Amino acid sequence: MVVRDDRGVLPLRTGYTYASAYPTRVLDDILWLVPHHEASPDGSRSTIEQINAYQIGPTAQAAFPGLAYLGTIDGDGTLHLAWPITAVTWSQGDNSPTARQNVGIYNWQGAAFMFAGNDPTEAQIATYKALKVVFETITDRTILVRSHRDVDGRSDTACAGDAMESRIAEIQAA
Ligand SMILES: [Zn+2]
Repeated sequence: MVVRDDRGVLPLRTGYTYASAYPTRVLDDILWLVPHHEASPDGSRSTIEQINAYQIGPTAQAAFPGLAYLGTIDGDGTLHLAWPITAVTWSQGDNSPTARQNVGIYNWQGAAFMFAGNDPTEAQIATYKALKVVFETITDRTILVRSHRDVDGRSDTACAGDAMESRIAEIQAA
């Protein structure tokens, strides 16, 4: 797995700093590895810089302080890490039954990574499998792989898409 460390280098929404953008959790908070899809209109695979620019821009669905995922995965499987894994990014929506520090509990419990494009490549699937093993090693617990729509059951999101849904069990078995 090729990893690019993009922590602290991506632009933020005006008024935020890298250190204060998101709350900080402890490793015991992390229960899930949550795949998200990019869902680009034309099926192309954007760069992390393009995705970040959209999410901190005026047309984002929420006023994200910065990138809404811990990182992104390019089509060739390269992992881009945007935040420390203890950052509570706004990834899993606003439908959590409870919140801490005004951020829904699903965001506290999920380690969210977005794959560029609509359907995952085999290289992206391989990176999710590696991430699952890494998170289980770091947290010393079983990590459940749950898609965005599986976590956020009250929203109508299609994320992470049918193609990824069909691979969740395979990633879980890694
Ligand atoms: Zn999503």
